[in-house]
Parts: sequence; structure tokens; C-alpha cells
Amino acid sequence: MLITVVDLEREPLEFDLAYEPGSIEYGFDIRQLDPLAVEGRADLIVEHRGPNETIHDIRVRAVYKGRFEALCARCLDPVEYPLDGHFDLLFRPTGADGEASEHSITTSETEIGYYLRDGVLLEDVLREQVLLSLPAKTLCREDCKGLCPHCGKHLNSETCDCNETVPDPRWAALSSLRSRVKH
Ligand SMILES: [Zn+2]
Ligand SMILES: [Zn+2]
Repeated sequence: MLITVVDLEREPLEFDLAYEPGSIEYGFDIRQLDPLAVEGRADLIVEHRGPNETIHDIRVRAVYKGRFEALCARCLDPVEYPLDGHFDLLFRPTGADGEASEHSITTSETEIGYYLRDGVLLEDVLREQVLLSLPAKTLCREDCKGLCPHCGKHLNSETCDCNETVPDPRWAALSSLRSRVKH
């Protein structure tokens, strides 16, 4: 849903939506399990910066709730994350603060964003909020042993006889080549 300045000039927007799994892409290792419930509102905030300069900001406030699944970084087992969050964000038109300060605002993580062209796409805001709420690195457990790089066995529940000193077949081929060259 695109929240536009033009629409908000008429009246504030209230929304109460449910996004089905698959309607928002989060990345290959994150899956939405349930409909994502989102309830909130958007308002237009007009900043007067001078006699002839007004800036149209879009404020979006909402609560959201949903279940997500991310893959363990070591063994790729899915780990479930119930999310229940809220946000209150202000979006300025791109360019309103000059490029340099936009960079510094983004890196300091102040809750100000920027919108391109007509307005703010609610799906983009949700994707970002969900990704911020999930851990940067998912582990099924702190001491996850991961998968054996040789046989692929899941080392949390299985053991294998591979050991790290197994020579790489490419090196074996190279050394036999060398011995043939020598003799
Ligand atoms: Zn794991
Ligand atoms: Zn193994």
C-alpha cells in the first residue's frame, strides 16, 4: 500500500491489514509463517522552513504482529521468532535534508526515513521493521556445532568419522602430478 502525500492532504489514513505469507519478501533465509497483522495510521506533517519552503513529511505509526522463521547460520535448521512490535517513523522527501546529513541520520539510526517520489510504501516499512527485529545472526542454540563440511551430517545430533586433515582431492591430484613430473 502506497501512502501518498496527495491522499494524506485530504485526510489522515487509518489502516488495519493482514499481509499473507509471501506478499512481502524478506530474503532467502527468512520466512513469514502467519498473516502479518498491521494496524496503524499515517499523517501528513507540514514543516515550514521559510516563507516559500514547506516540506511534506509522512508520519507512520503502527503495531504489528506475526510469526517468522529464520535459518540457523551454522546448521540451517529453522528457528521460529514470534514478533510483536510497534513503530513511529517520520519520512521526509529525499533531498529535503541534503545528502550529507541524510547519511549521518541513517547511520545514527534516528527514526527518520526518506521517501522517493509520491510517498511511502507500507510494505517496505514493514520489511525493514521485521528485519531490524530479528537477530542479525540466527543460531538454533549458542553452541550449535553446525554441519560437517565433508559429509554434511548435522553435528548437534550425529557424529561422523571425517576429520579436518582429510586431504583435499585437488591437492592429492597435484602432488601425484608433481611426482610424475619428477620421475
Ligand atoms: Zn544450528
Ligand atoms: Zn563428516
